Amino acid sequence: MIEKIQHIGIAVADLEKAVSFYRDVLGLQFAGYEEVPDQKVKTAIFRVGETKIELLASTSPDGPIGRFIEKRGEGIHHICFAVGDIEEAIRRTKEKGGRMIDEEPRQGVEGTKVAFVHPRSAFGVLVEYAQEGGKEE
Ligand code: ZN
Repeated sequence: MIEKIQHIGIAVADLEKAVSFYRDVLGLQFAGYEEVPDQKVKTAIFRVGETKIELLASTSPDGPIGRFIEKRGEGIHHICFAVGDIEEAIRRTKEKGGRMIDEEPRQGVEGTKVAFVHPRSAFGVLVEYAQEGGKEE
C-alpha cells in the first residue's frame, strides 16, 4: 500500500536562500512554490526522479515549521510516503496501534490529500501519507 517516498520535507528559515542552494549548488530541478495557509507554510518543491524535496518555511513564527525550527533547528522535518488510498492507510495505522495526528485527510500541496502519523509512534520521525490527486503532469 505504500508505493514510494513521495517527498522529504526540510524545514528552513530562509526560503530564498535555501532555494538557491538546492537549485544552484546541488542542481536540483526546481518545480515551483506553493503556500499552505492553514499550515502557515510556504513550500518550494524540487523534483528528484520519482520523488521530491519539499523545502518548508514558516510564514509566521507560531506556525508548526516556526516552532520546529525554534526547538530543533533547520533540517529534515518529515518523510512522506505515497499511498493509494489514504483513508485505508489511516485506518490501518490506527488498527495496528499507530497514532495519527490527522484522523481525517486534509488538503496538501499539488492536489494531494495528506495525513500525518505522530512522531512518537514512528520513533521520532514525523511521517506523512499522501494520496496523489487526479492531476497528472
Ligand atoms: Zn510534506
